[in-house]
This record gives sequence, structure tokens and C-alpha cells, in this order.
Amino acid sequence: MAKHKTAIIALGGNAISPKGEQDTIANQFRNTRKSCIAIMNFIQQNYHLAITHGNGPQVGNALLRVEMASDIAPRLPLGICDADTEGGMGYMIEQSLQNSLIKAGIDRDVVTLITQVIVDAKDPSIANPSKYIGGWYTKEEIIPLAKKFNWHVKEVPGKGWRRVVPSPIPKKIINRKAIKHLVDLGIIVIAAGGGGIPVYIMESGLYEGFDAVIDKDRASAVLANDIGAQELFILTDVDQIAINFGKNNQEFIDKIHLRDIKNLLKEGHFPPGSMGPKVQAAINFLENGGESVTITSLQTAQIGLEKGKYTRIIP
Ligand code: ADP
Ligand code: MG
Repeated sequence: MAKHKTAIIALGGNAISPKGEQDTIANQFRNTRKSCIAIMNFIQQNYHLAITHGNGPQVGNALLRVEMASDIAPRLPLGICDADTEGGMGYMIEQSLQNSLIKAGIDRDVVTLITQVIVDAKDPSIANPSKYIGGWYTKEEIIPLAKKFNWHVKEVPGKGWRRVVPSPIPKKIINRKAIKHLVDLGIIVIAAGGGGIPVYIMESGLYEGFDAVIDKDRASAVLANDIGAQELFILTDVDQIAINFGKNNQEFIDKIHLRDIKNLLKEGHFPPGSMGPKVQAAINFLENGGESVTITSLQTAQIGLEKGKYTRIIP
């Protein structure tokens, strides 16, 4: 039997909900269908695949709906909103990819799995919310909402204000064996959507949910290691990562070794909440047996990596 390489493709916010566009389902479906062009390139190369995706805008809107309707419908906690968006977005990606496969005449199954992810019960982020979710606001717009609904809010420097929620570090994917079996059979698995649903292990050994949102890049790296994937592709809205990003002396990176990127991370070239978690995810994956991480734009993945620019990180 031919040996297949296993890869995780992590879809960024841009793949489904680009900044500056209204987050309607029609728009999300249209973007998702376009994003499938990139995924199909990996399928044409016979990769065994799992696909992950972010849910920041969607889970924020889900929670906002809950809060606005709390007088007339029972509230849904954040952990349930994680699960709901993982299901809804998984459905969009699953169906869009199925249609792309049908059009290409390729017979491969696609399945979405709701994924619980183990985190530490004492994770320090629980007390220090840092993950941006939902829409963008001005300070004047967000202050009354924060008061009314008890939000934690934070400024994204230079871009606006957003709500923040706790974001614990993912440790292990609970259904990793099932995901691995399916991926090894060539089934394309959509998993750890929105970073998955955080749960912790109680003293009794049983699971209990956390109301928080896991970073999807960090969860993607854990999934990649947990199923023994060789490669991780992080598709975002920039072709390459840069040293001195946004400054006059900005320099894009084509290829870099693990030890060098670790130094750059320490020097502060990759901020938390955007490039930082991607680089940290890359480091974790490579330190735990991964062979390569590619960070590039969705556009480059759509035209084919060989035709565009990307950053590759290797051990
Ligand atoms: P995603 O939704 O794909 O996770 P993010 O917005 O979280 O996307 O992260 C990608 C963003 O990171 C880019 O749009 C870019 O503005 C920002 N960024 C921050 N630092 C860097 C850097 N050093 N090199 C490249 N991009 C960077
Ligand atoms: Mg991000």
C-alpha cells in the first residue's frame, strides 16, 4: 500500500469570516467554498488529512445572541456555544468539501467530529481572559455592552476593541484515537474546530467542561502530535511571517530552523493573539516529533504552494 503523508490544515479566520465583511451564513458559505480550493490541492497530492478551523467571530456572536435573548430563552454557556459553532461550522466545511470532491470525481469521505480537549483545571488563563472573540467595536460602543453583559474587553492595539474570554492551553485531544483511525483510512476529518471544547479531569477521573475558548493554532498542534501527523499547514491572511513585522526593516522568512524561530519568539517578533500562537504551535509540534510546519496565506494554498510564497519551519 502506498505510504501517505498525514497533514493537519488549520484554517484561519480569513478562510470563513474575513475581517471587514458581515458575518452572515451566506458569506461564510461562500468563503468556505472558496477555501476548499486550497484543501483540494492537498487532496490531489494524496495527503491524509485532518482540518481544523477558528471560531472567534462565530462563538462571540453566538454568545451575544444568548445574552440578548436571556429574558426569553434559557442561556447557553460558552462551552455549549463552542460545541454549537464547531458543529455548525463543521457542517459548512464538510458539505462544501463534499461538493468539491464530487465535482472533482474523487471518492473520499468527509466527517466532522465534535472534539473535547483536555486542559489543566488550574490553567492561569482562567483568571486572566485574553482570547478575542466576537465583533469589533470602538471604545464608546463596547463600554455599555461590557457593563450590561459583564464582559471582559480589551483593545487590539491600533485596530479597535473586542471582548475577551479565558483561553486555556490545550494538552490532549480526547477522541484522538478515533480521529487517527479515520485519518489513516483516508477519511478527511474536520476536528478541533474553534480549538475544540475545553474540559478538565476532575479528581474522580471524570470530565467536566470549561467555559472558555482554546486557541485553534495551539489545538491544531496538539491534534497533529496526537495523531502522529508529519506536517502542519497554517493558512492565514499573510504569505509569510516576518521579522520586525510592519516596520521599515521588515524581513520575510522563507525557511527557518526551530532553534532560530524560538529565539525570534523570545525577542518579541510574534505578538500574542495573532502570529504568536501560530509560532508557539509550530514549536510545540516540531518539538514533539513533527517534521515541518508551513505558514502561508489561503491564497497561496489556493494557487499551489510552489507558485506562491510561504514560511517553512523545520526541526
Ligand atoms: P488567523 O485568523 O488566521 O488566526 P490572525 O489575525 O490571528 O489570523 O493572525 C495573522 C495576523 O498576524 C496577520 O494578519 C498579521 O497582521 C499578524 N502578524 C503579527 N505579527 C506578524 C509577523 N511577525 N509576521 C507576519 N504576520 C504577523
Ligand atoms: Mg488567530
